Amino acid sequence: MPELPEVEALAADLRERAVGKVIDRAFVAEFSVLKTYAPPLSALHGATVCGTFRRGKFLDLAAAPAGGNGSPLHLVTHLARAGWLRWREDLPEQPPRPGKGPLAFRLRFADGSGFDLTEAGTRKRLAVYLVTDLAAIPGVAALGPEPLDPQFTADVLAGILAGRRTQIKSVLRDQKLIAGIGNAYSDEVLHAAKMSPFRLASSLSPAEVAALHDIIVGTLREAVGRADGLAASDLKKEKKSGLRVHGRAGEACPVCGDAIREVSFADSALQYCPTCQTGGKPLADRRMSRLLK
Ligand SMILES: [Zn+2]
Repeated sequence: MPELPEVEALAADLRERAVGKVIDRAFVAEFSVLKTYAPPLSALHGATVCGTFRRGKFLDLAAAPAGGNGSPLHLVTHLARAGWLRWREDLPEQPPRPGKGPLAFRLRFADGSGFDLTEAGTRKRLAVYLVTDLAAIPGVAALGPEPLDPQFTADVLAGILAGRRTQIKSVLRDQKLIAGIGNAYSDEVLHAAKMSPFRLASSLSPAEVAALHDIIVGTLREAVGRADGLAASDLKKEKKSGLRVHGRAGEACPVCGDAIREVSFADSALQYCPTCQTGGKPLADRRMSRLLK
């Protein structure tokens, strides 16, 4: 799943390619992905793209309506677990056939270029919204602070963790508490912090909170730096190669050489290094699946 650094890079890439272009048409290839009905997608026809932004893991394409009247439109996308954006220099004018293959949504510009939102698998979790006010999207309205915002200080993190008897892994990836961190970067942050994913958020000392804050900001900044300037097509490969523990069960920890371990859940898995993070003790799967929801 694309997280803060990848969505940030997607927004930057799309900004270079799309700002100033006039929208020809938006096509929905998979009905369930469109989560809003007012304004209608036809409001995008003839609109000019004026900016692209990221909020949490949401990608926002802003467009000024045709004729210059009315509020800017926001075409907002959440790529979910398996969704992706593919830029195309030459898109056909005919609407795509619905319900076939990975295509979920298409935006075509008047010059024939555009992008496809795709998602593998039959069940589409990718979500597209067209709104005039971002706060109308519940997932955006509920987002916690942006970790790369200068206002996200160690004190702000301390306030988020204080009294929270929840495992730190769950807190880090809870979008309502901190925006943009998911399963991959929470694994990376906890490994760099030499902290067990089991630790209760409320149990961290002020020094541990300060160190964790530095690591969150440093890990995300580094990943944003690596992804910066990459085209959408190269981002997935870059994300994978930059991760030290996430998705690397069985490989050697780059810090201590111990084998990276995994804890599986119904629909995801976390990876960690026992020597670096849990005093050499492997975490029990059963306990994790009961506690970490
Ligand atoms: Zn290690």
